[in-house]
Amino acid sequence: MNPKGFIRKTKQRELILSVLRSTKSHPTADWIYQEVRKQMPNISLGTVYRNLKTLTEMGEILELSYGSTYSRFDGNAKMHYHFVCEHCGKVYDLDLPVNEAIDTQIEKQYGVSVSQHRLEFYGACRECISGAKSEAAAVT
Ligand code: ZN
Ligand code: MN
Repeated sequence: MNPKGFIRKTKQRELILSVLRSTKSHPTADWIYQEVRKQMPNISLGTVYRNLKTLTEMGEILELSYGSTYSRFDGNAKMHYHFVCEHCGKVYDLDLPVNEAIDTQIEKQYGVSVSQHRLEFYGACRECISGAKSEAAAVT
């Protein structure tokens, strides 16, 4: 790759990373693409996807996949837990210590080697709970 191409690629990756790190919303690739385009109008969605994959492999970011729905991305690559709202789909960080004992337990019990674990809580977030309450109040 020529030096110009290298600089462009580095700039693209840095911008994607800074956009992702500027939000706590755990956005989708498409949201990141829309934000990055504001500063780099010629970038393609494919380039954004490729960079997200590379950044995940580099351990700079986390990909949170939810089976059939779109993956969300997290600028905080340190292991932490999430709360997912089943009503609005928002993903929140939980300030909860990572339970390392669980890894040891699984290793002992199953003779496997655990590198990490993922723990997610599901339910209704505070915003959705208070929204439902005010809606009920409006009806009565
Ligand atoms: Zn919610
Ligand atoms: Mn997170």
